[in-house]
Amino acid sequence: MHNITIGRTVADLPPGTIVRTEPGPLLAGRLPIDTGVVISAWGISGMVLVWFWGMGQPVAGLSVHAYFPAEAEPLTTTLETLPADEFVTLAQLTDQSYDEVTDAELIPLAAALRHAALTRIRRILAARDSQVGRVFLAVVLDDDGRYMGSNAYALGWDCLRCAPQALDPYFQQTAPCLNPRAHAWNQVEDWSYFHGTDEGHRVLAPRASSREEAYEAAAEMCERIRTTGHL
Ligand SMILES: [Zn+2]
Repeated sequence: MHNITIGRTVADLPPGTIVRTEPGPLLAGRLPIDTGVVISAWGISGMVLVWFWGMGQPVAGLSVHAYFPAEAEPLTTTLETLPADEFVTLAQLTDQSYDEVTDAELIPLAAALRHAALTRIRRILAARDSQVGRVFLAVVLDDDGRYMGSNAYALGWDCLRCAPQALDPYFQQTAPCLNPRAHAWNQVEDWSYFHGTDEGHRVLAPRASSREEAYEAAAEMCERIRTTGHL
């Protein structure tokens, strides 16, 4: 039964791996045989913590148990291919652990979820969204219309605006950005309101794959507008 699992180690079961558990003879009947997700390695025990999210939030001893790697077979389904409603459920429940499952234990899973979310977002939007591949910049100009600086937003970048607002700013987290175009326009609208003028700032959306590339492109675009009057 376990012949194909010989040699599997904790390293083969990184956080976020979706597994089918099959407890060994010693604990058969006492541990769930079910589909779960690896939260993290369990200390130095050589075991992994598996959470059966179908049973609800992570609660040690109820929906979370430790398994030896040989008892947890990775499925071909991953966090990136899990049906969307399941993925959302899993992500939301991750925020609702009891103290028995510590935040430190959940951090590796949270990181895996975040990475998967980004991949999923990119995949969904890639086919249809003109925001893909662009950086949206709310640009500040000097009096002569030269590029001075900007706030940059792009799909998937760490974003405060897309994250739920924390009650305590110390605990404020970021989330992969879903709405960069709107952020840039809202930013210049705020500036217009604050300064009482539309002058001195604009939105630009160059194709770019990094902040540096985007800043450079924006500066060039501003220079072209300044010297030729158009892009
Ligand atoms: Zn955002």
